[in-house]
Amino acid sequence: MPGGFFIYKADKSEEILFANDEFIKIFECEDFDDFMSYTGGTFYGVVHPDDLKRVEAQIILQIESPDNQDKLDYVQYRIKTKTGRVRYIEDFGRHVTSGNGDLFYVFAVDLKDKSNRHDVDILTGLLNRENFLNNANLILKNLSKPDKLGMAFVWFNIDNFKLYNKRFGFERGNDLLREASYELSSFFPDGLVSRFADDHFVVFTTFNYKQDGLDAEFELEEIQSKLAALNKNAALRFRAGIYFPSYNEDEEAQTACDRAKLACDRIKNNHSVNYCVYNEKLTSKLIKYQDIIDALDNAIINSSIKIYYQPIVRLLNGKICELEALARWNDNKLGFISPGDFIPALEKYHDIHKLDIFMINQVCKDYKARRVRGLPLVPVSINLSRMDFELCDIFNEVEKAVKDSEMPKNMLKIEITESIDLRGEDLNILRLGIEKFKLNGYEVWMDDFGSGYSSLNVLKDYNFDTIKFDMKFLSDFGTSDKSKFIINSNLSMAKQMGIQSLAEGVETQEQLEYLKNIGFEKAQGYLFSKPAPLDEIFNLNNLEIEDFRDTQYYEELGGIDLPNQENMQRSISRVNYTIALVKPMALIEIRDGELIFLAANDVFKEKIWDLKFNFNLSSSNSDILLFKKLILDAANKARPQQFSAFVNCEQYNISMTPIAQSRETKAKAYLIICESEY
Ligand code: C2E
Ligand code: MG
Ligand code: MG
Repeated sequence: MPGGFFIYKADKSEEILFANDEFIKIFECEDFDDFMSYTGGTFYGVVHPDDLKRVEAQIILQIESPDNQDKLDYVQYRIKTKTGRVRYIEDFGRHVTSGNGDLFYVFAVDLKDKSNRHDVDILTGLLNRENFLNNANLILKNLSKPDKLGMAFVWFNIDNFKLYNKRFGFERGNDLLREASYELSSFFPDGLVSRFADDHFVVFTTFNYKQDGLDAEFELEEIQSKLAALNKNAALRFRAGIYFPSYNEDEEAQTACDRAKLACDRIKNNHSVNYCVYNEKLTSKLIKYQDIIDALDNAIINSSIKIYYQPIVRLLNGKICELEALARWNDNKLGFISPGDFIPALEKYHDIHKLDIFMINQVCKDYKARRVRGLPLVPVSINLSRMDFELCDIFNEVEKAVKDSEMPKNMLKIEITESIDLRGEDLNILRLGIEKFKLNGYEVWMDDFGSGYSSLNVLKDYNFDTIKFDMKFLSDFGTSDKSKFIINSNLSMAKQMGIQSLAEGVETQEQLEYLKNIGFEKAQGYLFSKPAPLDEIFNLNNLEIEDFRDTQYYEELGGIDLPNQENMQRSISRVNYTIALVKPMALIEIRDGELIFLAANDVFKEKIWDLKFNFNLSSSNSDILLFKKLILDAANKARPQQFSAFVNCEQYNISMTPIAQSRETKAKAYLIICESEY
């Protein structure tokens, strides 16, 4: 017989009358006397103190249940051995009345020993998949219709369990799985509880489900918070998918589990909810994915997929400096499909490289067509999926397309989305792939920075040329000081690392002004233009194209971080005074004899002149007109000098330092620093 046996009194004393050697061994005690002194000779002393209340209540409830004629009980609990180890015990008790009064006869099995049997999961002692499905099928067949309505399949998954393993080690990972199993079995004492594989747990149980689902929600939240509390050092999320078997269908347990899993997968990327109830729409989503996959090859051949381009604007000059290529799919049969639908579908079914190879070739063809006609050209960024690096030799595909169209490599930029769920070999493939592009002269950009979890790690691990900040990340800048600070620091950090900054999703003038103020280099969004066919982009009235010969010059200027008083103050906000006083500073440009203010810090705007974000200079303020003239005069001298100027009732000593020059257009930029003479 596996496990042990013991007898205790079914009265308040819960005194133990007998325990066999096997049971004593579970406690790592030497003999009966040792065991009795270790446990105090009572059932209280056997059960882990944290489990005692629950276990006693469960036993009474089961024994007193009117349909439990045999007076059997079944509970699970932890015990602590004499050497301090925690073990999980399965306890099969029977309440008997004998000459010695009311007693409990108990068979107790250590779950670890039970695991040696082939119908259970070795690690946790839970039912294994096959056993679970057999049992669930039996129950499903024998349930009356109304009873079936009260049952549910619940699929549990631990978010990022593999990362957990990596961080805390496999042993701790295994402990977590065992603890989770224990919690689930205790929480669903009447249910079937199984571990299918890895971190996938499935429960088939009675569920107090009302039409509005509120009771189910309540129960789930309770078990989910118990599970989440298992580890204090890391946030744990146990996602759940629920499937309620329908009573008019002959369902197999396997189908039911698939549906619960589908519901659970559905909320993988939605962190605001922890469970999802299956409904028919989820299946139709899967079918839609299949339609998309089936339509892809034809869509490429018959041009249902087109490229739209969206301008990227340099904030120093307000001109288009790059374009992003985005796929648009208007299918003959399926109608318009959004990238939000077809990108995940193609990724899921490993077909995304077909789209991306098509896009690359199309971008190169568009480029060649314009060059042949002698039309203005702008560098284009393309989106690569990280799966492209595994599904094909994406570097080779890009090289081929670029060579065929005789496109210079600096005209094509590679965007890759920040991603959290990369590990081991996958991560290595991506890292090597990115390096290969970089070594061969392509810029690589990080897309959607701030949307994932490990943005800073990603920055550390790869050498990106540009970071695209997600506007969602920037969007609460107006409401929260903290987020302003985070954005400013991230931006400064990028500048110090020599990485260019781009804000995407810019929709309002207010957002644009904020971005300019803090020194973002580029922006993209509906405020400038929606994605559109290439010819339309070149005919936009409100936007000029940057002279490509100026690009390097502006990129150098974009790296300059003008210190802001506001930041200085914030960084020492725990002290009540300001240590560093920032001087008014501005970045100016002399182009074809004209003076252009490119950027200024907050102190310059406050004390000297608020540029009002206009790109052309016009001011009726006579001080400013004189100030402009002095700058122009100084710039015309062979070596720029210091000079004095009187602006807004204050006398300043002005210094002018040349910063960069465009070799071809001869535009020249200076840093202006104004020092008050008092
Ligand atoms: P993304 O690369 O971050 O592209 C920017 C998305 O933001 C585009 O959505 C664009 O239309 C949208 N957008 C631009 N300005 C604004 C704005 O001011 N406000 C708002 N709310 N949205 C704006 P789209 O075209 O739907 O693309 C979605 C995502 O699909 C892209 O995100 C990209 O990750 C992916 N994608 C698109 N085309 C391709 C492709 O050819 N290959 C791959 N692998 N992915 C692609
Ligand atoms: Mg992109
Ligand atoms: Mg993006």
